Amino acid sequence: MQKDNLVFDLIKKELERQRNGIELIASENFTSLQVMQAMGTVPTNKYAEGYPGKRYYGGCEVVDEIENLAIDRLKKIFNCSWTNVQPHSGASANAAVFLAVMKPGEKFMGLDLSMGGHLTHGSPANFSGKTYHAIHYGVTKEGIVDYDQLEARARAEKPKMIICGASAYSRDWNYERIRAVADEVGAIVFADIAHPAGLIAKGLLNDPFEHCHIVSSTTHKTLRGPRGGIIMLRNDFENPWGIKDPKGNLRMMSSLLDLAVFPGSQGGPLEHVIAAKAVAFGEILSNEFALYGKQILANAQVMAKAFVNRGYNLISGGTDNHLMLIDLRNKGITGKKAQETLDRAHITVNRNSVPFDDKSPFVTSGMRLGVPAVTTRGMKEEHMEMVAAMIDKVILNVHDDKTVADVRVKVKEMMQQFPLYPELG
Ligand SMILES: *Cc1c(COP(=O)(O)O)cnc(C)c1O
Repeated sequence: MQKDNLVFDLIKKELERQRNGIELIASENFTSLQVMQAMGTVPTNKYAEGYPGKRYYGGCEVVDEIENLAIDRLKKIFNCSWTNVQPHSGASANAAVFLAVMKPGEKFMGLDLSMGGHLTHGSPANFSGKTYHAIHYGVTKEGIVDYDQLEARARAEKPKMIICGASAYSRDWNYERIRAVADEVGAIVFADIAHPAGLIAKGLLNDPFEHCHIVSSTTHKTLRGPRGGIIMLRNDFENPWGIKDPKGNLRMMSSLLDLAVFPGSQGGPLEHVIAAKAVAFGEILSNEFALYGKQILANAQVMAKAFVNRGYNLISGGTDNHLMLIDLRNKGITGKKAQETLDRAHITVNRNSVPFDDKSPFVTSGMRLGVPAVTTRGMKEEHMEMVAAMIDKVILNVHDDKTVADVRVKVKEMMQQFPLYPELG
C-alpha cells in the first residue's frame, strides 16, 4: 500500500499550526507523546463489547488487562470505588448518566448554556433538552452561580437530578450547598467536571465527590489525556427511585451506569483510546502533574490580572481555575470579531456568550481564554503577561493589518522557545 500522503500531509500541517500558535482555547490541551502513541495502536482492531471478564467476544484477555489498568488508575486518582472508562466523549458519558437516572420527560436542572453551562445540560438543541424536561439556574449580575435561585427553583420544581458543572465558568463550585437542597427535594446530584477535572485530581479545587452522587468528565481537557469520557462514583449506592433494569431487577447505581454505557448508548469500546487513557491516568498520578496543576493556577491568576490592569471586564472579576471569561463590550468589539482577528495573529481563542448577553450565540460579546495548553507547552507567569499584551494589541488594532501581522511574527518567534513534539520532526 502506498502511503496516503494527502492525509498525512494535512496531519503534518496541523502539527505546524499547533506548533506556531498560542493555544488559549480553555477546553484544549496537548497530550504527551506516549498518550498519542498508545492511541495509534492495535487494540483499535479489537471488538470488546461488554466489560472486563464479561465480554461478548473472544480474544479479549489482553484488552481486559488494558481496561482494568485504566479503571484501577482512575479509581486511585479520584479515590473512587467504581468507574467506567468506555464513554467515547464527555457528551457520551453524560448521555449514559441521563439514561441511567432519568425516564424521558422527567425533570432535571442545570446551569443555563448562555450563562456558562454545557449543551448536554439541557439545551433545546441537544438530546438532554429534547428528551427530558430541562429547567435552569443562572448566575448573578456579578457572574457567580446564583445559589439562591438554584435553591428556590429546586424547591418549586422538584427535579429528579441537579447538574453542577460548566464549560465557561471561572469560579469554584459550592457542591455542599447544592447537595443540601438536593437532599431536601430528593434529587440526585450529578457533577460534570469536564473542565476542571485535572485540578480536582490534585486537590487544587473543591472535591465534588464529597457531595455529588455521580461525577463525569472528559479526559482531554485539564486531564490531558486522549479525547474521551469517564463516569465515576466514590461510593456506590442503591438507586433511590427503585428504577428497574429491563428484566425487572433493582440495581445498584454502578450497574445502572454500566448498562447505560453498554448496551444502552454505545457499542464496542475504543480499547486503543482506553489504553491511552491508562497512560494519561498514570501521568496524572505522578507528582509532576501536581506541579502542572499549580502552574495552571498561577498562570491563570497572572493572565487574569494582566487583563484587568488593561481595563478588561472579567466575568466575576477573576478566576479560581484555569479559565477566564471576558466581556468585550467596553472595548467595542464582538466575540466573533475578536476570535477572527486573533486567529490571524495565530492566537487561538473562542468567542463565548457572557451572562445576560445581548448578542446572538453566533456573534457574542465575550471571549473565553484558558491556560492549560500553554502551560503544557512550558509557559510561566512572565509569558502570561506577554500573551495578554499581544492580545490587547490585536484587539485595539483590529483594523490594522500590519499590527496583526507583526503580532503573528512575534507569536511564532515566542512559540519556538516551547518545542511541541520535537520527536515528530
Ligand atoms: C467539554 C464538555 C463536555 C463534552 O465533552 P465532549 O467530549 O466534547 O463531548 C461536557 N460537559 C462539559 C461541562 C464540557 O465542558
